[in-house]
Amino acid sequence: QLRQFAKIASHDLQEPLRAVQGFAALLAEAKQGEINNDSAEYISFIIDGTERMKQLIQSILVHSQISASDSFQQVTDCQSVVDAVLADMHSVINETQTKLEIEALPAVAVERSQLVQLFQNLISNSIKYRSSRPPVISIAAKKIMHQWLFSVCDNGIGIDSRYTDRIFDMFSRLHSKGQYPGTGIGLAICKKIVDSHGGNIWVESKLGHGSMFMFTLPAVKKERKTTMDEKIQILLVEDSPSDVRLTQEALKRSPLEYELTIAGDGVEALEYLHDLKKTAYRKLPDIILLDLNMPRKNGHEVLEDIKKDPVLRPLPVILLTVSEREDDVQEALRSKMNYYLAKPITTEKITSIIKSIYELYNSQPHEAIYTQEEIHIRLVLAGNPHTSLVALASLASDPSKRVRSRLAENPRLTEELQWKLVRDTEVEVRVNLCENANLIPAVLELLAKDINEDVRLAASASPLIPKHILQELACDENVYVSASASRSLDRF
Ligand code: ADP
Repeated sequence: QLRQFAKIASHDLQEPLRAVQGFAALLAEAKQGEINNDSAEYISFIIDGTERMKQLIQSILVHSQISASDSFQQVTDCQSVVDAVLADMHSVINETQTKLEIEALPAVAVERSQLVQLFQNLISNSIKYRSSRPPVISIAAKKIMHQWLFSVCDNGIGIDSRYTDRIFDMFSRLHSKGQYPGTGIGLAICKKIVDSHGGNIWVESKLGHGSMFMFTLPAVKKERKTTMDEKIQILLVEDSPSDVRLTQEALKRSPLEYELTIAGDGVEALEYLHDLKKTAYRKLPDIILLDLNMPRKNGHEVLEDIKKDPVLRPLPVILLTVSEREDDVQEALRSKMNYYLAKPITTEKITSIIKSIYELYNSQPHEAIYTQEEIHIRLVLAGNPHTSLVALASLASDPSKRVRSRLAENPRLTEELQWKLVRDTEVEVRVNLCENANLIPAVLELLAKDINEDVRLAASASPLIPKHILQELACDENVYVSASASRSLDRF
């Protein structure tokens, strides 16, 4: 109710504000040259005042919308958050010659945009309230039981110990607007974020000797991959907040047990993955959902980097696309995507894909009944040359004949899987196996001796078939087989 109230109130407040702002500007323009200096100054005070009011209203809105409910099952890497915040602030960091000392930071169970606000407010305050020396900011984290204790330390002007509690109150400021610009709401937002996650925030400072802001946040529960009902780790790489939200909502409504990590763009995603590689106890994601159009690094570039890395290469990557056009999909699959998901993302679509891929990649036992969507996913994966070998092995026992047939053509099929499929009871599977570009000779020989004439016919057309087998097939009792074999013989 409070959220709703703040939303409506701020909307209604903004309307008269815009009117005041607009007409003050019109007045300034209309009376230019006619009014004296005092009047011109009064008008500029009105305009400044309305601008400030606008900022305050927006801050109240942000403050009222903070809650921990969005953080449910979230894992956000603070390192990537801080890196993104610093990247955004790079010009002020350069201008002020700020020195940064940042230790390895953990992942916490807090929704990403809230962490961005938290670090952004603290870091920008450390620069804003700097002393005459160039700012030095150190950020570190220490694990204490099930929480992480963070510290953001600066060498700035410091805070009088009498006011160290008060500064976290809404609109509370220790300086005039003339000395330092601001609304006095930044730390109130930080406090609400930390409080709502069951943490604490406080500051230790001495006037003239810098400040150390400390806060605690919940650690991510460690998950070890032992049982089947283990949570599926999903990494969503998406820069559009509305698409992030849609995906979160779709997942929330799914029956999946999952943990979602969000990376705001490709650079962040790669940094996150590389960090995970370095951290022994944390496992890599089971599935990556990758948006194509992103700033800094687009989906194709991210994918290229993932596929170049021997540790990351096997991770299944699902492309999030706005287009379901066959060309686009084929292009995506060619560029080593494992699957694609057309936006808008719905619960049904995302559940089927994640479940299917997770099961395949983890060799989970098959379930008897598949939905059409799940069969389609298996079909795409079976035909995709980038599907992992574990998944291919699993698909070789797929109950759907269509899926096994598609798999039979996959050039990545191992010898072992070729031997398995050459004994498949379905003719269609064996026929398609003949079209495989990497068949081993022994399997091909077996196909050429198959009891089914359609299979022998397909074998006779294979470009891999050796001459001596063709000569035998040219005498085949089935006229179509012998004709085809003779035609192929002409090639030699
Ligand atoms: P604002 O951005 O308007 O300054 P904040 O809520 O961010 O509002 O901070 C409240 C007050 O706390 C500030 O006005 C300032 O006096 C004090 N403060 C915040 N951060 C620091 C800091 N790093 N060093 C010294 N004073 C600080």
